[in-house]
Parts: sequence; C-alpha cells; structure tokens
Amino acid sequence: MTVSEKVAYLKGMMEGLDFQADTKEAKLIKLMADILEDIALELTECQDDIDDINEYMEAMDEDLTNVEEELFGEFDDEEDGCCCCDECEDEDCYEVDCPHCGETVCFEEAPEAESFPCPACEKDIPLN
Ligand SMILES: [Zn+2]
Repeated sequence: MTVSEKVAYLKGMMEGLDFQADTKEAKLIKLMADILEDIALELTECQDDIDDINEYMEAMDEDLTNVEEELFGEFDDEEDGCCCCDECEDEDCYEVDCPHCGETVCFEEAPEAESFPCPACEKDIPLN
C-alpha cells in the first residue's frame, strides 16, 4: 500500500466511523489527516520527478557510452601493445623488472642513464 492509499484508507475510515468533527480532538485529528494527505500528494510528485530524472540519466548514460565508443573505440588496449603498460603499443619496447618490488617497467627505447627510480617503489633500478 502506498502512502497515498493509506491516507485515503484513513480518511475513508474516519467517514465510516461517523466521525464527529465538532470536538476539539476531532478537529485536531481531521487537520492531521488533511496534512497527511498533502504530504502524500507531495511525496507522489517527488517520486514522479525522481522517475523523470532517472529516465533522463539513463538516456544521458546511453549517449555518453556512444560518445565513448566513438572516441575510444578504435584504441583497444588488449589488441596491440607488447606488455602490460598502456603507453607502449609498438613491439620493440624495452622492459625492465624492478629487482626490489618486481614491477615491470617499460620504455619505448632503452634509457641512457645507468639507473632510474622505479615508479612503484621509488628505489633505483640499475640498467647495466
Ligand atoms: Zn620497484
């Protein structure tokens, strides 16, 4: 049962009980029932708004997926590339395993320095 249905049920019950609205208590209860009815109405409107927003968001999400496919669809990381990293896509890249943490680091060409800091653990990796 929705809140609106419950309020309608409450109001129907009040009528069925031959509710005497001339006592102070009865006036108070009737006022409360009216307020509940207003709240239920606003709640229903809010729910409708949320449904609209959800629908709009879903449409936006779909559009965004299309844009992403248009932009990035041709670059599939898994299809080419020689190793785990996203940057290098040609086959003759240069790979080094860090002796400290085991991280595989790759370059497009062999670095000229004798060592370089590991991007994962920041310790120096000797190259020769
Ligand atoms: Zn390392």
